[in-house]
Amino acid sequence: MADTKFLEEVNSRRTFAIISHPDAGKTTITEKVLLFGNALQKAGTVKGKKSGQHAKSDWMEMEKDRGISITTSVMQFPYNNSIVNLLDTPGHEDFSEDTYRTLTAVDSCLMVIDAAKGVEQRTIKLMEVTRLRDTPIITFMNKCDRDTRDPIDLMDEVEDVLNIACAPITWPIGMGKEFKGVYHLLRDEVILYSTGQGHTIQEVRIIKGLDNPELDEVLPLHADDLREEMELVVGASNEFDLEMFLSGELTPVYFGTALGNFGVDHVLDGLTEWAPKPLARIAKERVVEPTEEEFSGFIFKIQANMDPKHRDRIAFMRVCSGKYEKGMKMLHVRTGKKVSISDAVTFMAGDRSAAEEAYPGDIIGLHNHGTIQIGDAFTLTESLKFTGIPNFAPEMFRRIRLQDPLKQKQLLKGLMQLSEEGAVQVFRPLRSNDLIVGAVGVLQFEVVVQRLKSEYKVDAIYEGINVATALWVDSDDDQKMAEFEKKAYDNLALDGSNNLTYVAPTMVNLNLAIERYPAVNFRKTREH
Ligand code: GDP
Repeated sequence: MADTKFLEEVNSRRTFAIISHPDAGKTTITEKVLLFGNALQKAGTVKGKKSGQHAKSDWMEMEKDRGISITTSVMQFPYNNSIVNLLDTPGHEDFSEDTYRTLTAVDSCLMVIDAAKGVEQRTIKLMEVTRLRDTPIITFMNKCDRDTRDPIDLMDEVEDVLNIACAPITWPIGMGKEFKGVYHLLRDEVILYSTGQGHTIQEVRIIKGLDNPELDEVLPLHADDLREEMELVVGASNEFDLEMFLSGELTPVYFGTALGNFGVDHVLDGLTEWAPKPLARIAKERVVEPTEEEFSGFIFKIQANMDPKHRDRIAFMRVCSGKYEKGMKMLHVRTGKKVSISDAVTFMAGDRSAAEEAYPGDIIGLHNHGTIQIGDAFTLTESLKFTGIPNFAPEMFRRIRLQDPLKQKQLLKGLMQLSEEGAVQVFRPLRSNDLIVGAVGVLQFEVVVQRLKSEYKVDAIYEGINVATALWVDSDDDQKMAEFEKKAYDNLALDGSNNLTYVAPTMVNLNLAIERYPAVNFRKTREH
């Protein structure tokens, strides 16, 4: 039996990520969340678009130049009686697979929607990913201080487009300049909003009970409408149901304004109360429970040059079970080597500090000198392989070529390492010496060229190439597979880990191939 302190630590963890379309307000919410976590004295320094300051999580010049965050960083802070881990996901239009993989390391997600715009395309895509594991979703309708769409329409859209039931927890009173606050359905409280307090934790005025005459005094123009509307809303919408939330079938919905720092604390209250404590993780061999005392964890992301002074690489590990203690010995399962970890980093409040200990649900960073790969498991002694950490079929392709042809070996080495990290995918056609780079977002191409230059001292350029998609291929039927490999030779390539892929010049070509070789599986994801 695990000891009580350990169980308390495990059960206090809440590990989540924000999913949203660019500009919906993810960065602003992160600032306010950290403000509540007392992590920042004054909100407004995470991205610092306006102030010109940059948070510790920004790591590359390129990011600073563009004021965007390409990489995932991790923030930990206490809230209520919980320890909250917020994993940041890139918000820019061009994003990498890191976003997807980060979602494998969390136990719940906060979905942020711009209430003036409704459900947008990136949100749809990210929701699809969370569906792979039925991750519980909390919804925040942001920017209520602007003219928004009708809240009932917004919820209908979430239900129809994202196929998840909505249960309003708070309900907006007015909108835009007339935004007065929210009614909290579960607490039966009206919480009043006052403008101009976005940078502080507000002293809010609360009116207890919808029937309270105080409401008519304070909101004479809204009180009766609100009462009527709430009757309608309660009748027409779902009640919150914890089990349905935990199985990803229903989302609690909150309204507010991140910029005005109103409503974010309601979300955090819901998150700490309802969101799951660290969930079990599935390994090929067995299910790993967070309450097990033996240590285990998996790598979901590798990031280079986080700290320009160190130029090191950090492998991000989600702790799945047991306790990490400074200096402990772990088994790096893939290599079979025992390693002593004395300098793992944690991400308390956006700053990196030496981790003394970490518990299931926490993220720690291991210094990586090229031996750690995405998907790797670390354990005390057991041989485990965690599943569900995917590679996604890239959607964009370019041929990469050297300025100086003598450095071909360096180029290949660099590309293979970058593909190991998951920064990009590399394909080597069987029939030629071409190197094809595949990415999920355009920005990845730029990052790769920049890193090849700074870390491998090679100048590379891209050329267009006629590739529509590359899918991983395999078959249970060895004979049929051999036949396929012979006939489709011109379209086959090896990826960075020597897995066979089918590189299709057009979708028509792909569809023909799928028809012609029914015994062959064409896969859009490959597990590490
Ligand atoms: P991200 O791209 O999702 O990280 O979005 P940001 O947090 O950077 O927000 C995008 C823009 O919307 C910024 O100009 C914010 O100041 C603005 N914004 C964020 N939240 C609100 C809000 O509640 N109300 C209003 N009016 N603007 C907001």
